[in-house]
Amino acid sequence: MIAKRTKIIRLPKDKCDVGYITRLMALTNLAYRGHEVWVPDLPKEIQHHLYGSFKNFKGSLVFGTKPKKWLALTWVPLKTLRIYQDDSKKGDPNAPIVLDFKSGVIRLRKVCRNEPRYVVTIPMPKWVIDRIKEGGDIKFARIGLKDDEPYLALTAEREVEPYQPSGYILAVDVNAWNNGVAYGIINPNNRIAEYSPLRPNLRLIDTWYYRAEDLHKKLGRLRRLGLDSTPEAKGLRREIKALRRKVYAYLRDFAQKKAHELVMKAIRLRAEVLIDDVIEESRRELIEEKLPSGLKKLYLMYTKRFVKLLATQLQWYGVPYRFKRLYSSICPNCGHELTQVEGRVMICENCGFKAPRDKVPMYWAIKLTHFNITRN
Ligand SMILES: [Zn+2]
Repeated sequence: MIAKRTKIIRLPKDKCDVGYITRLMALTNLAYRGHEVWVPDLPKEIQHHLYGSFKNFKGSLVFGTKPKKWLALTWVPLKTLRIYQDDSKKGDPNAPIVLDFKSGVIRLRKVCRNEPRYVVTIPMPKWVIDRIKEGGDIKFARIGLKDDEPYLALTAEREVEPYQPSGYILAVDVNAWNNGVAYGIINPNNRIAEYSPLRPNLRLIDTWYYRAEDLHKKLGRLRRLGLDSTPEAKGLRREIKALRRKVYAYLRDFAQKKAHELVMKAIRLRAEVLIDDVIEESRRELIEEKLPSGLKKLYLMYTKRFVKLLATQLQWYGVPYRFKRLYSSICPNCGHELTQVEGRVMICENCGFKAPRDKVPMYWAIKLTHFNITRN
């Protein structure tokens, strides 16, 4: 199995011509639709790479999503050349992206500005070094714009076979971010060895979010008075943007860190991972909560992101995993519906089962794996 991981890196805006990248992205969109358009004032090599590369990219998981709209901006796929410490090289010698491990830099040739021999050099990210150490290779990259900022996306590939699980189970129950993720470790004797909810610091997010909302209202008032180009309005806009960025960055880091921690736990125990990621249920749960819709959207978005990160990393490290329903409101003993009482405790009125809400999915994981053992 080939596992893939992707990292995006922001490029220095002053060294990149956004208009040029936009044109390359438009050509990429056309290429996805099977049109080869040769534009006289763009470097021939880049167009060769574009159309030549496409045969490799089409149908691949990473590049295979066809843009939905005509002329939608589509990231430009590019080949890479890798130069290693011992002077050995891999890849296309004329590739636009050069990963130079000897000098510790990445060179982008002719893709940042429409000038012959134009090169942008950026430091080699630690992420790349880590993936290479793990036996990965970076054959493809993409360049593109996100919120008008230029980015380089690198895709690492690695051939990996999932390991034989030791009998340990790591169960992960994904809720929308405000309720967090609960995980549990079940040892080979079907005992819950450890379980814990992982929740972001909601108070911190609330503080930033509501502060941004307040400032936004203030800005609205200025706008209605025709004062939206004053230094005060500009300052407000900057502050709002900074606060929103803080919220995104915090949630992104949280998702990243927790996904990584769980993967490392699984590897240490050679556990099999069971994931319950019922996004639909989380969405319903969220709708019922008294939260502003902007926050609901954010929480849902980062929940999805967490699941994606988790699955990508599990694949990358060869951790066997399955998606399974792990209920938190159905009794694992008798199937009766559970009732929630104070302190997020669930009780079964039929058989007397009682457990904290976050722990119920772990009993389901035991039930599911025990079922497997007795059947095999
Ligand atoms: Zn019951």
